[in-house]
Amino acid sequence: MIKEIREPLVFEISAAGKRAAELPPLDVPEKKDLLAGVALRDGIEGFPEVSETEITRHFTRLSQKNYCVDLGLYPLGSCTMKYNPKINERLAAHPAFTATHPLAPAGLVQGNLELIKTLEACLCEIAGMDAFTLFPAAGAHGELTGMMLIRAALEARGDARKLVLIPDSAHGTNPSSAHICGYAVKEIKSNERGTIDLASLEQEMTGEVAALMVTNPNTLGVFESDIVRIAEIVHAKGGLVYMDGANMNALTGVVRPGDMGVDVMHINLHKTFSTPHGGGGPGAGPVGIKAELIPFLPRPVIVEKGGRFVLDEDRPRSIGRVRAYYGNFGVLIRALAYILSLGPKGVREVAEFAVLNANYIRKSLEGEYDLKYKTASMHECVFSDKLQKEHGVTNLDIAKRLIDYGVHPPTMSFPLIVHGALMIEPTETESRRDLDLFIDAMKAIAREARENPQVLHDAPHATYVRRLDEVAAAKFPVLRWDKKP
Ligand SMILES: *Cc1c(COP(=O)(O)O)cnc(C)c1O
Repeated sequence: MIKEIREPLVFEISAAGKRAAELPPLDVPEKKDLLAGVALRDGIEGFPEVSETEITRHFTRLSQKNYCVDLGLYPLGSCTMKYNPKINERLAAHPAFTATHPLAPAGLVQGNLELIKTLEACLCEIAGMDAFTLFPAAGAHGELTGMMLIRAALEARGDARKLVLIPDSAHGTNPSSAHICGYAVKEIKSNERGTIDLASLEQEMTGEVAALMVTNPNTLGVFESDIVRIAEIVHAKGGLVYMDGANMNALTGVVRPGDMGVDVMHINLHKTFSTPHGGGGPGAGPVGIKAELIPFLPRPVIVEKGGRFVLDEDRPRSIGRVRAYYGNFGVLIRALAYILSLGPKGVREVAEFAVLNANYIRKSLEGEYDLKYKTASMHECVFSDKLQKEHGVTNLDIAKRLIDYGVHPPTMSFPLIVHGALMIEPTETESRRDLDLFIDAMKAIAREARENPQVLHDAPHATYVRRLDEVAAAKFPVLRWDKKP
């Protein structure tokens, strides 16, 4: 293997006087004083000076070190890293949207407000809920908003209660959101199928419990098939059911949380409804609710009056504002474009292909990798490194070696109830060929673990940066080029 050339920092290829563009000499008198002290800088110390060729090649080479969903499978479980159609980007970048000023009065942005109302209606239909707020900027923000709505509704009934029940397989944001909303969290155990144990739920579900936060399908990729009974148990004791719907791609068009007894839920538009994410880009975590919670919706609520959309601020029981302006509007445009271009049939196919692809991977790798929970998969499947551990190989070694095979590693060590977890979500957008490339790589790695584990301990081999000390990288990040250790 030819060793990759190290890409220097742009500062290191800088040489005084180099320019990317040369302008012809001025043929009019120079008027420097016009901008002096306003927008014209004297110079920036240490600013890199490079030629056009150098800067183009520098950034092109860096961009080719990236892995992305446009390159191949990105099987990061619970993250739904699917391919995002380019048409969504084109529409979100349309000047009619990008030129909207966020402070424009409602009368001037009727089209934008109509887009928001249309998306709300689509999400209500897909999720079986009575209303949606599109303000929350992420899944965790949706959870907090949803828990605030639950608190407000229970306070209105005269009893805010103290506790929230959360299964041990839950995403870490669930307990955090409940806690920030002032609730104490009680964990409920999963049974051997990986789903909520009904007996423990019946025991824990008392008059002190405000809500159960349930993820369905849960983070093991298993459908909570007792969900209707679960909701009955919670409702019988006066509690509400919150569903974490971050990964709705196993359900869309097939079943609706609202029909399963869910009272409040969030959806991650940046996972299920096709917005590129990762790296902390903008997201949206709309919250859907049943009718009882409508009076508490965040302000303002967009309502239609006499054929016009107006912002209703007069909501005395509202939990208040949760986000500036109208949320992350660009993400909302992409989600609506995605839903409308798929149509009802396509929305259902999303779920069918998501489930088919995950089960194809689960079946193909069964035996090569340990499966703690044998229950059929929905959108993802969770293996562990148990069989490879016998040869001293861990899930970290497997993940790093996948990079050499040209695949992004899956989510690792989550959910916590599977030790050494490898959580694989292929998503619905992958072809049979791409799934097979991944499966072949995983099988090759399983063989290497038996025959040559050292090659896994030393992986990745084909990257510029090799195995990092991840603790040091997180605790002592070097973010300035002139502060090299
Ligand atoms: C991603 C995810 C979240 C959190 O969503 P963010 O947008 O990252 O805040 C919550 N629950 C589950 C199950 C998730 O997969």
